[in-house]
Amino acid sequence: MKTPPPQDVAPATECVVVINCGSSSLKVAVLAARDGRMLLKALAERLGTPDATVAWESGGERGGIPLPGGGHREALQAVADRMENLRPLAVGHRVVHGGEEFSGSVLIDDKVLDAVRRCVPLAPLHNPANLAGIQTARELFPALPQVAVFDTAFHQTLPRAAYLYAVPYDFYADLKVRRYGFHGTSHHYVSLEAARLLGRDPGATSLVTMHLGNGCSACAVRDGRSVDCTMGMTPVEGLVMGTRSGDVDPGLHQYIHDRTGRSLDEITSLLNSQSGLLGLSGLSNDMRTLAEAAASGHGRAALAIEVFCYRLAKAVCGLTAALDRLDALVFTGGIGENSAPVRARAAAHWRVLGVRLDEAANAAHGANTGGVISAPDSRVACLIVPTNEELMIARETLRLVS
Ligand code: ADP
Repeated sequence: MKTPPPQDVAPATECVVVINCGSSSLKVAVLAARDGRMLLKALAERLGTPDATVAWESGGERGGIPLPGGGHREALQAVADRMENLRPLAVGHRVVHGGEEFSGSVLIDDKVLDAVRRCVPLAPLHNPANLAGIQTARELFPALPQVAVFDTAFHQTLPRAAYLYAVPYDFYADLKVRRYGFHGTSHHYVSLEAARLLGRDPGATSLVTMHLGNGCSACAVRDGRSVDCTMGMTPVEGLVMGTRSGDVDPGLHQYIHDRTGRSLDEITSLLNSQSGLLGLSGLSNDMRTLAEAAASGHGRAALAIEVFCYRLAKAVCGLTAALDRLDALVFTGGIGENSAPVRARAAAHWRVLGVRLDEAANAAHGANTGGVISAPDSRVACLIVPTNEELMIARETLRLVS
């Protein structure tokens, strides 16, 4: 006689594991393969130190453990231990720099790993960490296909007029000095969602998307392809960010060096980690803190916000040069989704584009409720689209393994 199958054991949920590996941190998101639902989210920090920890959230419940001295492998193992009743189909990795080697996501094999290694000089902090994440996942999930999704890939469609710097051409030919752009996964996802919101075919939609988080960038998307963006060879170019300066005069380095004796390394660090909103305000890199301080009379917090919004607005106008038409301006990222005053302030600089926000809609929409925030008579639609890079990586991963 056959034994009947057990009635009380639910079948394991098929899922995709998304990994974003930093040098001393590891972010993991596990999404349902069927509908992209977030099943488990984990963050390991201070890896390789006595204070290493891993924390997770799943089904509304939170937990965490200390992991003294633990590295990426121990952290990923701790997350895998939480995955009972989940059946991973594949692993998707966020990889920061794909250089000119990758114009889309790829299934990882040894050749791909070599190419990612060749891009290390372009992202010396990030790519080695991403490679460590891939190595760890290959060891822990040897049977699963692994996919790399690059921050730069979406921008590989930039025309040469947009990606070349006006420096001697040999720097491009010999050293790959050019503009690459970053946040590509977010700009790509948000542009697809914006087209959906507008009821248009993404292949026939012209947009400028603005990813405003700790790092900030804007992107001109014409007919579904990135045609220009504000970040360049490194993520410090372009908009004012939390701690990054964005564009400065290239003569600044020499001047600061001459006047203060600071070295090139010190100036680079100054422009990356002590500038932007933090540098201008002298208070914080966090827009929430600055908004509160400005409201209670902190002059330099107000100044930082003013510069942030003006530079954003000006960069967006510049990006429209890459478009034939402008269907919509799209806000995303922590600031873009949550800060109605920043959106209103930037929009006030776009009168020449015929932009008019609907005040009530601008105040009502946010991270949980993306939607249209422009007035009916605005010549250009303005939207909030909450970004979801994990979902985009999971979709790309499934697309490549199926
Ligand atoms: P990351 O780039 O690290 O993913 P986020 O996208 O989470 O960062 O964005 C972080 C920024 O979003 C911070 O400046 C934070 O102050 C800002 N932010 C989050 N919520 C709000 C809010 N309600 N109002 C204004 N700014 C906000």
